[in-house]
Amino acid sequence: MLSLPSPDVLRNVVDAHCHPTDAPSISSESMDKLSINICAMSSKASDQSMVRKLAQSYPDKVIPCFGYHPWFSHLISIRGDLSKEDHFRELFRPSSAEDLAELNALLPGLSDPIPLDNVLQEVRQNLEAFPNAMLGEVGLDRSFRIPYDYDASPHLAVALGRNISLHSVKAHQATMELLASSKAKHGVQWNKISLDMHSCGFSPEMWKDIERRYSNVFISLSTVINSRSPNHIALIKACDPHRILVESDYNDVDLCAQRTWEMVSTVAHVKNWKIETEWREEGDHTAVVHRLKENWIRFKEGNHPTTPSRGKS
Ligand SMILES: [Zn+2]
Repeated sequence: MLSLPSPDVLRNVVDAHCHPTDAPSISSESMDKLSINICAMSSKASDQSMVRKLAQSYPDKVIPCFGYHPWFSHLISIRGDLSKEDHFRELFRPSSAEDLAELNALLPGLSDPIPLDNVLQEVRQNLEAFPNAMLGEVGLDRSFRIPYDYDASPHLAVALGRNISLHSVKAHQATMELLASSKAKHGVQWNKISLDMHSCGFSPEMWKDIERRYSNVFISLSTVINSRSPNHIALIKACDPHRILVESDYNDVDLCAQRTWEMVSTVAHVKNWKIETEWREEGDHTAVVHRLKENWIRFKEGNHPTTPSRGKS
């Protein structure tokens, strides 16, 4: 296991994406011990209030993020007037008597769908309650069997001037379309916010294309997802040094610092950046934690130029 640096260094590290309220192990002891700052995602109905409480209890360490993971988006109905049966029938579209029988057998185990309007209203209230809150986790996922294609929540985030943590799996085309339509629809407002492609699995070519088109899109990488593919090394190599963030994507908050630090160290090795062993505010700004911290501040503050600057490395 990689050894962690001093608490002074860790205090300047931000885990851009994790799910602490998903783990039963979360406790005040764990939170008190937590040595880094975390962006705590919510992904389904039940954890919106848990993330809210976590951010109220640990305002210095927790950046709350409110949203619905695409894996749970089948529980959201676009229309408020559909019964549970009709909602799931419309979603799964059983084409044979067997499919229909199977769906009918599943129905009692499925919870009632929540109308999209209610979801958006709750997300809006939560975002407004925390000036530093982000929209997350939201996204597009074709590997999940239910196609997910509403982008109302990213538009809500732009309208409220909030940053986004976006999940995109096997949905490159749809993601490109979402970025293009957001930019076209919101104009100047779009560049006020930042968007993080979390556990980004894009090819280096595709990522460079995004960098050229958008000045407000960042990537964050995790060892748990990205290390499965050698692609992430090429992606880190290709990425503009100003656009990269790190994350754990972990549920167990006891491991967030360890997992995030592993990615900090990978980024440092690939980019050939020094790793701080102690912290000096005015220290070496070409070392990895200083750089990632500055990237985080740029991400957090938004207000990006309308045309991406030619990134120098
Ligand atoms: Zn996630």
